[in-house]
Amino acid sequence: MVDRLVLIHDVNRRAKRAAYLRVRKNPEVARQKEMRRRHRLRERLLIFYGTVCVLCGESDKAVLCIDHANGGGNRDRANRSRGQTHRMILKAADPDAYRTLCCNCNLREQVSRAREARTNAEAAHYNDRYKLRALLRYGMTCVGCGETDADCLTIHHVNGGGGQSRRVEGNKLCQWLWTNGYPEGYQTLCSNCNWRVYIAS
Ligand SMILES: [Zn+2]
Ligand SMILES: [Zn+2]
Repeated sequence: MVDRLVLIHDVNRRAKRAAYLRVRKNPEVARQKEMRRRHRLRERLLIFYGTVCVLCGESDKAVLCIDHANGGGNRDRANRSRGQTHRMILKAADPDAYRTLCCNCNLREQVSRAREARTNAEAAHYNDRYKLRALLRYGMTCVGCGETDADCLTIHHVNGGGGQSRRVEGNKLCQWLWTNGYPEGYQTLCSNCNWRVYIAS
């Protein structure tokens, strides 16, 4: 009987080890596992903080995010790796410190905070001049939903590759577009529609 138990224990251990190696050796499996984990965390957070944007009432779960009620999200993120933020918010579970916002309201808040703190390094990221020029070229209306508030509009790569280009251009896409004579292949999307496109791709 004891031998049998030892054997079962051994088999379980070997199965676990094999599963661990399968994940570790295959980056795609590891990535999917990590995505599922983040998705579960996000679901739990949305249940806790509410599944409606507190500013505009948007209820499409795909575009909702958890926002620092008093700013400081970037500072927090800088101190942690990407996957850690949600876990930290879950631990805090403080209804006063965080709230649910849609991507549009989140961007609007970020822009207004950056405007208030002009000297802040963040302000450089929201360079109104270049952004306005880019919007004039590519359109002042979101092609997805017709949103016209310039503060929550973004310029979007029609054929994807936004992440790649942002890395190359260092978050200065609007300036890059201006220097390169506003090439084809870009369009105006609001932050919500931009996120929906990103998820669908
Ligand atoms: Zn909103
Ligand atoms: Zn839109």
